[in-house]
Amino acid sequence: MFFNSNSCPYCGSKECKESGKYNTMQNGERKLFRCTDCGQVFSETKGTFIEKLRKPIDFVIKVLKSRSEGSSFNATCRVFEISKNTLLNWERKFADMKDVIFLYCLANQFLSQIIEGDEVYTKINKNVPAEDSQGWTIILMERASRFIWVMDCGEHEKTLFLNALEILVQVIEQTEELSLITDGERRYGKILFEICYDLLKTGKPGRPPKVLPKNVKVRIKNKGDSNRETEKPRPKYEAPCREHPETEQNISESDIHANHVEAFNGSLRRRNSAYRRKTNTYAKSKTGLQRTLDLGWIVHNFIRVHWTTKQVPAVALGIIDAGLSWVDVLKMRMPSFV
Ligand SMILES: [Zn+2]
Repeated sequence: MFFNSNSCPYCGSKECKESGKYNTMQNGERKLFRCTDCGQVFSETKGTFIEKLRKPIDFVIKVLKSRSEGSSFNATCRVFEISKNTLLNWERKFADMKDVIFLYCLANQFLSQIIEGDEVYTKINKNVPAEDSQGWTIILMERASRFIWVMDCGEHEKTLFLNALEILVQVIEQTEELSLITDGERRYGKILFEICYDLLKTGKPGRPPKVLPKNVKVRIKNKGDSNRETEKPRPKYEAPCREHPETEQNISESDIHANHVEAFNGSLRRRNSAYRRKTNTYAKSKTGLQRTLDLGWIVHNFIRVHWTTKQVPAVALGIIDAGLSWVDVLKMRMPSFV
C-alpha cells in the first residue's frame, strides 16, 4: 500500500506506538496510536475516507461500486435508501483522493509509453449544441497497460486540450520514450509543441529550430483512404511536429492503428450513467461530471482488473505491485483529509 497508515498524520514521523483501542458503532474496534515525536494521539482511520463514517464500510463499498458500474445517482439513492447528500458526500470524498494518488503516480519513472488521445462527449444540463457543451471529455490512455493519465471534461476548446497536455508534459518528464497517437484532432500536436519543445543546436547561424524533446513523438491518424479529388492516396498517418533528430523511429503502422480508447469509450458509456445516450440521466454540472470521472479514474486504474489485459492498469504500468481493494483505497491516509 502506498499511503502508509502507520506514520503520524500530523508530522509524518514513523515513530508511532499503539496506545489504546476504541469501539465504533458500525465498524468494530479501532486502534489508537501515539506519535513519540509530536505527542499527538490519533486513530488508525485518521485522515482516511472512513474516519467518522457512520455506515458500515461494506455498505459504502456496495454503494460506490454500484455507481462505478453504471447505476445513476438517483437510482442508487433509491435502491440503497440513502439521502442524496450522503451519496454526494461519499462521492466527493472518494473523488478528492484522485489528486494525491495522481501525484504518487508521477513519482515513478517509466521506460516507454504509447499514449492514445481521444475525446468523448455527453450533454450537461440543458440541451445545447455539441460545440457549446461542457461535456467533452479528453482521455489520454497508455496503450499497453490501459492506464488512464487524463480523463478531464470541459468545453471543446483550447483550454481543455491545454490542461490535458500540461499533465502529459509531467508524464513526459518521467518517461524515457513517449509517443502520443491521436485520431484526427490536430490540436494535440499543435499545443504539445507550444508547451514542450527543445531548441535544436545545429551550429548554423540564426535562430535554432524548435523540435519535440528527444524520444517524444506525435502521430495523427488520417481518417479515410484517399482524397478523391486529387486522387492522391493520403498517408495513413502524419507526424505533425518536427522531431529531434536523435529520436528513435521505432513506431509501426499497426502501433498507430490499434485503438484502445475507443473500446474504453464503450465502457465509459456503460459504467458512467452521465454518458449514456437516450436517457435523461445526463450530468447536471461540469463539477459533478468531473467528480464521477475522478471516481472512475481511481476504480479503473487501481481497483478493477482490465478484461483484456487481465491486469489492473496501475500494476501493468508498474506503479504498484498488486491491485488495490476498495477497502485499501478507503483506508488510504490523505494529507488533505487530516
Ligand atoms: Zn507526529
